[in-house]
Amino acid sequence: MHVIQYSGGIGSWATAQRVAARHGTANMILLFSDTLIEETSLYTFLTESAAQLGAPLVRVADGRTPFEVYWHSRFLGNSRLAPCSKILKQQPARRWLEANADSHATTLYVGIDAGEARRIPGIRAGWAPWTVQFPLTDEPELTKEAMLAEARALGLTPPAAYEEGFAHANCGGMCVRGGQAHWLRLLERHPDRFADYERREQEFRAEFGDVAILKEQRDRVVRPLPLTELRRRHENRGLSPAA
Ligand code: SF4
Repeated sequence: MHVIQYSGGIGSWATAQRVAARHGTANMILLFSDTLIEETSLYTFLTESAAQLGAPLVRVADGRTPFEVYWHSRFLGNSRLAPCSKILKQQPARRWLEANADSHATTLYVGIDAGEARRIPGIRAGWAPWTVQFPLTDEPELTKEAMLAEARALGLTPPAAYEEGFAHANCGGMCVRGGQAHWLRLLERHPDRFADYERREQEFRAEFGDVAILKEQRDRVVRPLPLTELRRRHENRGLSPAA
């Protein structure tokens, strides 16, 4: 069996295309871990691309959203440590694999590209005993734009986040792993989502003290940088989101 870690991102889509070209789709599963806060266009891309491939899309979910995980773990996800990724994506996928995929007869595929190859040892160790392959790393020249163009040429509409300038499409742009430029882009493109996360972060801070999704370094000291402060600075200084 060939199991693609199918996130709705363009890398996982391109990975599925390459696995289908090599092995066909008869024994392929597209495994999607739902964080429940994905954007509508991502869900649409998932279902339409799976239907086009002719491979089953299997959805697994923990049932909580990222912020519910932060409250339950009493820890606010950030760029260095994101429990949401482990709890909402890896663990539900692993439970499905344990119940449905013999590790001796199953290969997993993860859509990282050649530029992210340093992550391979950690990903392999994390998914043991299943074998993991990374087909996109065979194409060092492959760019995100080329993958997006491939999908569009097949009549698909990739998640809107790419058109909006985000590097990644997941969690509706509200990814705690994003940096300041990412969150300023969210503020510009989706002020409602930014405001929602700003409010949630303030509630979390009221309970747990001076923690924040973002951090900044000043005078060689790393400090939390709340979204409220990021927005205020943006408004006061007329900063524009990074290109
Ligand atoms: S995309 Fe970001 S916010 Fe969403 S689960 Fe992954 S690390 Fe967490």
